[in-house]
Amino acid sequence: MTAYDHGEFEGVPTDASSELAGVPDAFQRLWTPHRLVYIQHGQQPDEHACPFCRAPEMSDEQSLIVARGEHAYVLLNLYPYNSGHLLVCPYRHIATYDEASPEEVAEIGELTQVAMRVVKRVSRCDGFNIGMNQGRIAGAGIAEHLHQHIVPRWALDSNFFPIIAGTKALPRLLGEVRHEIAEAWPA
Ligand SMILES: [Zn+2]
Repeated sequence: MTAYDHGEFEGVPTDASSELAGVPDAFQRLWTPHRLVYIQHGQQPDEHACPFCRAPEMSDEQSLIVARGEHAYVLLNLYPYNSGHLLVCPYRHIATYDEASPEEVAEIGELTQVAMRVVKRVSRCDGFNIGMNQGRIAGAGIAEHLHQHIVPRWALDSNFFPIIAGTKALPRLLGEVRHEIAEAWPA
């Protein structure tokens, strides 16, 4: 790895990489600034077509909802990174966390805690990744409707599929996982 010095590249001032914070990992980066145009102009649904607004109007089985609160609800991600990958969404069509009301913030937090306990119990996972991608640029697929990811992790859950094939191996069907988590959810 090269530590780049202060200087400039094509007219843009650059900082020495030794002054920047970060956690090294095993991935190589393919920097694709030309994708910005595509990402920034990507279509986002309005409330009428928003999957997170429409999900609560359907049955739990149809929408993969595992629990409904007063201000927020929990559903299985249709595109899971891992089995039991849940999303906690407010019912309101708001884009970012700073727009959430105190009641929504509190319930998103409570539902996240309950979801962790339930998933730990039913799947005996070893850890979690929890977080929100705020904005399309930060990786949010549906950037217009706030959602918190809860991704259970197992010690041996990483394999070569996502790296070489762009494919995740998911051993269990979504409906089956939804049923199991919904059954274990405290009343
Ligand atoms: Zn929405």
